[in-house]
Amino acid sequence: MLFSEVAECFAKVEATASRLEMSAQAAELLKKCEKEEVKPLIYIIEGNVAPSHEGLDIGIGEKFAIRAISQTSGYTEKAVLAEYKKSGDLGSAAENLLSKKSQMSLASSPNTLSKAYSSFVKIAQMSGAGSQESKVSLLSELLNGAKPVEARYLIRFCLGKLRLGIGDPSIIDALSMMKHDDKTDSQTILRAFNLCSDLGEVAEYYIAGKDLSHFSTQPFKPIRPALAERLSNAEEIMNKLGKCAVEAKYDGLRMQVHVREGRVDIYSRKLEKMTHMFPEITQAASKLKIKSAIFEGEALAYNAKEKKYYSFQQTMQRKRKYGIEGMAKEFPLRLFVFDLMYLNGKDMTLEKYSKRRKSLEKLFSKTEPLVPSELIYTDNPKKLDIYFTDLIGQGLEGIIAKDLSQPYVAGARKFAWIKLKKSYGALADTVDIVIIGYYLGKGQRQEFEFGGLLAAVLNDETDEFETIAKIGSGFSEDEMQSFEKMLDEIKVKDKPKGVNSKLTPDFWVKPKYVITVAADEITLSPMHTAGMVGETGYALRFPRMMSLRDDKGPEDITTTKEIIEMFEMQKK
Ligand code: AMP
Repeated sequence: MLFSEVAECFAKVEATASRLEMSAQAAELLKKCEKEEVKPLIYIIEGNVAPSHEGLDIGIGEKFAIRAISQTSGYTEKAVLAEYKKSGDLGSAAENLLSKKSQMSLASSPNTLSKAYSSFVKIAQMSGAGSQESKVSLLSELLNGAKPVEARYLIRFCLGKLRLGIGDPSIIDALSMMKHDDKTDSQTILRAFNLCSDLGEVAEYYIAGKDLSHFSTQPFKPIRPALAERLSNAEEIMNKLGKCAVEAKYDGLRMQVHVREGRVDIYSRKLEKMTHMFPEITQAASKLKIKSAIFEGEALAYNAKEKKYYSFQQTMQRKRKYGIEGMAKEFPLRLFVFDLMYLNGKDMTLEKYSKRRKSLEKLFSKTEPLVPSELIYTDNPKKLDIYFTDLIGQGLEGIIAKDLSQPYVAGARKFAWIKLKKSYGALADTVDIVIIGYYLGKGQRQEFEFGGLLAAVLNDETDEFETIAKIGSGFSEDEMQSFEKMLDEIKVKDKPKGVNSKLTPDFWVKPKYVITVAADEITLSPMHTAGMVGETGYALRFPRMMSLRDDKGPEDITTTKEIIEMFEMQKK
């Protein structure tokens, strides 16, 4: 397939607001693919050359992309920069300049999808001295054979800014629609994706006609994390689950550890590899007496002498690129292991909690700093309450109750796990929201140019970010300064696609940074679009910033549906 066909489809997707329509357009494109083109195409639509957990990012610098455009279009770099400034998008600048170019280079032949993808991979893999020059010549070669609309997407892709507004759920629907013209297979495809986080691999498996229900977990393919539901009290939990395991809820850093024959990798909640940051965990995992395993836990900095947990903020200091050994000594981690999803070649995700837990306890005895999470088993709400109060007294966040008969539900929020957290005002939980814009300071704050944030929840039915709060308090001066700097880098000219807002902040930003916010309650509001029906949406009353959550991505935030559930719970 020619890359120009891909680009033309991308242009249509970009101009489409309806999620279903976007999937239909992608399905048409997938239908035109040769078998071996499907996997690369899926990665390209996702805006990358490989699943993000492989850490292979394309990222050409703007300066070099400008050079490539100049070389191909015949315009000077200064002229390219001037065109870029007009629209704020280098892809459109390339498209405009190339369309003004009178003729295609004589030597150039049109780009195929396979050629474009293999150049992208080469560009991503190149590093070291002289690599930028080689990247520029590969990109120039692609631009030479490109139609103007292709140039738009070649440039955006190579800058890591494709942003078609089509997320994984819509790509999954597109795969199903390619075979059935509807979403018949979406759930089965989603399950397989949740088990390996590699949509390219799942797509290849699917179009080869293999039975996706046999798809299983494998080491070094991270599993999308199971999520917890909420209920408002111990009684409700017992009514729902009956006798269950009540585990301590640690407020630390979620880790998924993969081990096979001495090799260890640790993935974050966002499924990014962070192995090298935690030498003590890696070492302990490599010493386990097993062939292979995948397990999950919450890591906390723990002072064994004083039997005291450090705070979330202190624990988070361990997530860093430099000074790792020193920090490992000062704030050694303990990993409270709470699930076991794979053991010695066997996929454990379909086993009941009780069976997984038994294997987990057997494996993690005398394996400090890897220890099983603490728990009690009970069907008595009073016992749950006593345990809850005891844990809060120790500085923990609350409990997670677990259904003894449920499998590991990858990537989904089901009643297999139910959380109960210490409360903030009438609200039973904090919420995780994504920043979509910010305001300039007024009065005293003017010197920081930062006056607060506009933030949103995710409507997972429409795939839109809906505003729920303006947050002006809870920031230290340092935080305000660092927010201003961070957000300035991701400023965009117009409201980003996929954002639904009635408010207009001083600056829009790309939805990227997630914050945890506490509030007094959820109220109805005519200003915010979260769950809006007619003129009324939901808003957070007196929201205050608790922490920046760089372990969570925009797809992991609180959903509109959860906000409505929390609103209903609060009424009780
Ligand atoms: P929340 O982020 O508030 O929705 O709570 C769910 C998070 O609690 C999970 O993503 C884990 O990181 C964390 N967690 C802490 N302790 C446990 C536990 N014992 N079992 C499961 N998750 C836990």
